Amino acid sequence: MSQKTSSPAVGTVYIVGSGPGDLDLLTLRAARLIGEADAIVYDHLIADGVLELARPDAEKIYAGKESSNHSVPQGELNRLLVRLARTGKNVVRLKGGDPFVFGRGGEEIETLVDSGIPFEVVPGVTAAAGCAAYAGIPLTHREHAQAVAFATGHLKDGTINLDWPSLARPRLTVVFYMGVGGLAEICRQLIAHGLPLDHPAAVVQNGTTRRQRVLTADLATLPAKVAAAGIKSPALIIVGTVVRLQQKLAWFQPQPTATQG
Ligand code: SAH
Repeated sequence: MSQKTSSPAVGTVYIVGSGPGDLDLLTLRAARLIGEADAIVYDHLIADGVLELARPDAEKIYAGKESSNHSVPQGELNRLLVRLARTGKNVVRLKGGDPFVFGRGGEEIETLVDSGIPFEVVPGVTAAAGCAAYAGIPLTHREHAQAVAFATGHLKDGTINLDWPSLARPRLTVVFYMGVGGLAEICRQLIAHGLPLDHPAAVVQNGTTRRQRVLTADLATLPAKVAAAGIKSPALIIVGTVVRLQQKLAWFQPQPTATQG
């Protein structure tokens, strides 16, 4: 960059997690930074109402991000953040959940580092934590699971490239993000690698919001149940015997008058 005396100071880019959907789950730090930002670059999956916390004059740029429909290619997005910061703007890069859990936060920061742009990262409640809490499925439990794994269930060419033997384990809870399209393949692989057909599994759609739906079943029956119910993204798949606790521990009633699936 040229060193013109008129060039503005470089702004800071804040990579901010906005939580899983319920606006109340936004951190105080995220709310404050959103309220102060000159520009906000936001994704598809951010909590309803979060942009209303922004200054009316803040520039708001939609970056898209649905797995099948990337509105702005990642490289372009990385350059946009650099460009905005170089005009002296403080930028909030707003993401669903936590920026470092399947959020590409790392990739965006690499470009900022390479370009000498100051940045900060603000963690958010990741979908696994939010959905588990609002569905009544503890991710760990002394009688059920001593470890949790977060995995991507994103299908590529009809397959999911994961270390299946390490995921098909007893006393482990596995949470699949982006797994609705690949659900049948996920269940098939877990069974093929040793989990029983009746191993408990659940799907949580639109977790933490008023549109939340929870379906519980087992590896053999979950895909058909999810297809019949018309469950779509965003949804999280939780696999493990902790799912058995859901019936007893569910507390969140998003639609009190409707029957739960
Ligand atoms: N960084 C995010 C994840 C982005 S990947 C986080 O930490 O949560 C997007 C995937 O997250 C979706 O495909 C879905 O699997 C999951 N997800 C995000 N919000 C969700 C919600 N409210 N309910 C269920 N799943 C959700």
